[in-house]
Parts: sequence; structure tokens; C-alpha cells
Amino acid sequence: MARLARPLDRLKPHYDVVVVGSGYGGGVAASRLARTGKRVAVLERGREFLTGEFPSRLPELRGQMQLTGRRLRLGSPTGLYDVRFGEDMHVLIGCGLGGGSLINAGVALRPDDRVFRDARWPQEVVQDGWLEEGYARAARWLRPAFDPTAVERRKYQALDRASAALGRPAVRAPLAVGFEATINPAGVAQPACTRCGDCCGGCNIGAKNTVALTYLPDAVRHGAEIFTHARASHLARARGGGWRVYFDRQDGAAGDGRPGAASVAGDIVVLAAGTLGSTEILLRSRQRGLSVSERLGRSFSANGDIIAFGYGARLPVNAIGVGHPAKVEGLDVGACVSGQIEMVDAHDLAKSLTIQEGVLPSALAPLLPALFIPNGRLMGALRSLIAGVYKGPLASLQTFFAVSHDSASGRLVLEDDRLLLSWPGAKDEPVYARLDAALEALVGHAGGSYVKNPLAGTMMGQQPATAHPLGGCGMGRERACGVVDHKCRVFDASPNAGAAAVHDGLYVIDGAVMPRSLGVNPLLTITALAERAMLHLAADLGLSFDDAARHDGSPTSATAPGVERAQATP
Ligand SMILES: Cc1cc2nc3c(=O)[nH]c(=O)nc-3n(C[C@H](O)[C@H](O)[C@H](O)COP(=O)(O)OP(=O)(O)OC[C@H]3O[C@@H](n4cnc5c(N)ncnc54)[C@H](O)[C@@H]3O)c2cc1C
Ligand code: SF4
Repeated sequence: MARLARPLDRLKPHYDVVVVGSGYGGGVAASRLARTGKRVAVLERGREFLTGEFPSRLPELRGQMQLTGRRLRLGSPTGLYDVRFGEDMHVLIGCGLGGGSLINAGVALRPDDRVFRDARWPQEVVQDGWLEEGYARAARWLRPAFDPTAVERRKYQALDRASAALGRPAVRAPLAVGFEATINPAGVAQPACTRCGDCCGGCNIGAKNTVALTYLPDAVRHGAEIFTHARASHLARARGGGWRVYFDRQDGAAGDGRPGAASVAGDIVVLAAGTLGSTEILLRSRQRGLSVSERLGRSFSANGDIIAFGYGARLPVNAIGVGHPAKVEGLDVGACVSGQIEMVDAHDLAKSLTIQEGVLPSALAPLLPALFIPNGRLMGALRSLIAGVYKGPLASLQTFFAVSHDSASGRLVLEDDRLLLSWPGAKDEPVYARLDAALEALVGHAGGSYVKNPLAGTMMGQQPATAHPLGGCGMGRERACGVVDHKCRVFDASPNAGAAAVHDGLYVIDGAVMPRSLGVNPLLTITALAERAMLHLAADLGLSFDDAARHDGSPTSATAPGVERAQATP
């Protein structure tokens, strides 16, 4: 596939729509608004990665790390893996054209229905039926599928055996991954997944249904112009109507690095820079006079999400990716997640949790002996180094992703113009003790030891970490309880504005709008709510678009099995 992005020098002064960020929210907005005939520009801070360009060796991976803390800033600002060190919690997000979809595991789940019965959601979300349509469209374009051979994977079998410890069987996980070669709804040819396990490093095969292979090429086909290396700083009302987005060029051009040195105008602006990015842009805009709800930055949730490990299991699980081209031949790894255990609590939603077995990307392989094999196990380390991490004790290293519910009481703030997460007591959220207990039981059943955090002795410390940041611009009925309304329009908090008045043409459409934890991996819900917001926007402005596929056959016929929904069991 040809590159989608064009040089920043070709950015025009004005567009009908400026979309900031290119993850799920930004991709949907760009595609759907371009399909209405609007002239759309997308500004993305990261770079574009074509299939085959993702890091597959440790030095390449190191070069794609950016680390930020209160007093720390290391690595390129366009590095693919964006790690935010927090005093209460760390956050990992993706940076690049396609956002988090580039480095996620692609697990595509619907939350338990009880999530949407929470009064924090505006009631229209559940009542007008357009969320269902949003999920249907998200499923047509991201095409969640089950790996037909998932149960043959050793890591799946290990999870299934250990599931006896929790009294629930393992089941297959639906993934935004193609297990057969296809032409996708955007008209892009995608080969079948080779089960190399490198999904979280970046799929070098092109089988993962990322935003970069689906919504963004569709946007470009319909005339959208995409620009990378453009980091939005803030926005303000433009003279004569619409909005002006100020951004820093990260492409090495003159003026590089000066905050907000460049700008572009749009009649409509969609902030889709992710939970951290969109909240940061609105916080900075508020400092410069934009009137926004005092809820801005609040209700941050980590989605009860952790990554943890089991070391020393009796049997190998082969849960380290081999990548492409394969670093070792003949290993049975699988996609990053093959199986999961759903623990649904019918009485208390907060206690429901899902545990998925995962795979570490192959580029991390050389680091693993040092991380997991302590001094006392030097012989094990040597064996592992000699035989390669794929054979020694690390062949039985288990990785788990667990997701559940938290109190969503973190707060994002700007300090010295840097976004920080404040959540005193985050590590004492009850969810973490529940997850530790479940994971310890699973790992113990397999004969291994639970390793909660192999980096605890480093600057990572004991704080929890999440790859599912949500909230900061949460939805609400009016500005006293939310930052955006059910259509993702930003509330206007000017003294003379009504309680539910909104800024004309200003939207936030991404993970930031979630008013609470989802309890399942969020990509499908972010996409569904974005599709829903686009349907409302089009209806409000008298626009029309369809989501038809761009090749023979409808998107529905090209896709697989629909979407899994967590069910409450009695
Ligand atoms: C390792 C990992 C594994 C994961 N696995 C799963 C999974 O299996 N299933 C699942 O559902 N979820 C998973 N997630 C989470 C999921 O990927 C995110 O929730 C999702 O990508 C968020 O979508 P979004 O549209 O809110 O924002 P993002 O996807 O984060 O996109 C935001 C985009 O905006 C850009 N941006 C940010 N700030 C600016 C700025 N100032 N100016 C311009 N551009 C900006 C970013 O670079 C990014 O491209 C995973 C995440 C990670 C990191
Ligand atoms: S397992 Fe490999 S080929 Fe399949 S989606 Fe993941 S990275 Fe791509």
C-alpha cells in the first residue's frame, strides 16, 4: 500500500474539518466525514509506518521508545511506544498514523450491558439505538474474528488447563485480525495472519486490521489529506467562525519544536488525540480562554487493566513472538491473544474481570533473561541465552493481560505545560488485589510463580501501569457532569451559556469520552461510539454517507463472525 501521508508543506490554510489524531476515533471521523464530501485534514503527531517497517530487533525498538515523566523526557517525540511515567500510575500509548491500533493486541470485545446502564452515561446513548448501529459498523470495518486454530496454541492450552483454578473454562478471544487473505472494506489487500505473535510490536505482515489499513485509507480514497509529524498544542475560535488549531512541526522544518508555531483553520474540529492527547489539548486551550466544563481532566480510568507474568510453569507455552521474518522456525506461537477467561459477577459488575493470555513481541526477546531470571537462576539464564529465549526457561514464561473495573478517580492536569496523571491511592484500588489473586491462582496451577512487575526495581517502581487509559473528557448530560454530550460535542461553560449548551463544531471522539471503565478492552467501543457520533453529526448537519465497502461484495460478506458480548450469568 502506498503511503497515506503527505508533506506538511502541502497543508492548506483552511479545511471544512480538521481531525487531530489518527487512532480509532480519528480514523472513523476522517473516513465518515470525507464520505460526506467534506474537505478533511488529519493532523497526527507520529510518523507513518508501512507494513514491514515496525521494529523487529531490540535496537530498532529502543529507537522507537519515548519516555516522559514529571522531570524526564527521553527519546524521539515521534517514537511509536509512548510511555508516561506517573507518580501514581504509568501509561503506555501508541504514537503513529493509526494510533494505538498499531501496537495493540486487537482484542475486540463488547462490554457487559450493565456498563451502559450506569447513570454516568447520557441516557440517549442506550436509548436511541445508534450505539447498536455503531457496533455493527465497527464490526464490519474492524472485522473481529476468532482464530480457527486458537485451541491448538500451547499458550491457549496452558490457560485452559489452569482455568480449573478459577472454575471457568478458557474461550477463544475475538481479534481484529484476518486469518484468511482478503481485500478489506477499504479495498486494501491483507494477507492472512502467520501467527508470529508480534501484534504488540507492530504487525509486519499486514494481517492486523489496524486503523492504518482500514479507516485511514478509506478517508484518503474519499479525498481526506493526512499529515504526520504535526503535534497539536491547543485550539481557539477563529475570527469569522470555526476554529484554529495550533500545532508544532515535528518534521525537522524551520520552527520545529516551537509550541503552536503553525496553525490550520477548520469549520469543524474533531479532537481524536486519545485520552491523554485530547484532554491535554483542551486543558491548554482552556488556559488560553476556551470555556470548558470543570470536569475536564477528571474521571480518568485505567480500565482495571494490568499486564503480569508467570515464570517457571511446568510446560512450555511459547509466548514470545517470533516476528517476521521468523527469528526461529517451527514455533507454534499464535496471535498475541488466543484465549481468555471471562469471570462475570452477576451481582457486582465491578468484580467482573477478563484474563487473556498474551505474547511479548520478538524485539523484546533479548531483554527477557535479564528481566525474569534472577541471580540465583544464573544457570537458567545461561541456558536461556545459549539456547535462545525460545528454548530455555523462558519458553514457559506466561504473559497475561487482565481487564476489569476501577473507580475512575484519576485526574489529568497540566503542570509546567506537561500533562501529568494524579491518582493518589491508585495502587490500592480493590481491582488490583482481585486481579493478583486470580492470576496467582492461575500461575500456581501451572506450577509457576506470579511475577507482578519484573521492572519493580527500576524507575517503574510499584505503581500500576495501564495500556487502556480512558476518560478526562467524559460524556455527561450537561456540563456539570461531563465535558462532552452524547454526540461528543464539547460543552460550552461560558457563564451565559445554558447547562447543556455546546461549542458549535467542536468534538472529542476517542477514549477520552468514556465516563467510566468498560471492563473489556476498549477499541471496539471507542470505534462504535465514534461511528455513532458521526451518524449524529451527519443527521444534525443534513449530510449523508454510507459505510459501503470499496470492493466487490459488501463489507458484511467480507467479514467474520460478529462481536462477542460479555454476558451476565446467574
Ligand atoms: C500494547 C497495547 C495493547 C493493547 N491491546 C488492546 C486490545 O487488544 N484491545 C483493545 O480494545 N485495546 C487495546 N489497547 C488499547 C487501545 O489500543 C486504545 O484504547 C485505543 O487505541 C485508543 O483509541 P483512541 O482513538 O482513543 O486513541 P489512540 O489510538 O491512542 O490514537 C490517538 C492518536 O492521536 C495522536 N496524538 C496524540 N496527541 C496528539 C497531538 N497533540 N497532536 C496530534 N496527534 C496526537 C497519537 O499519536 C495517536 O496516533 C492496547 C493498547 C496498547 C498500548
Ligand atoms: S500474529 Fe503476526 S501476522 Fe498475526 S496479526 Fe499478529 S503480528 Fe500480524
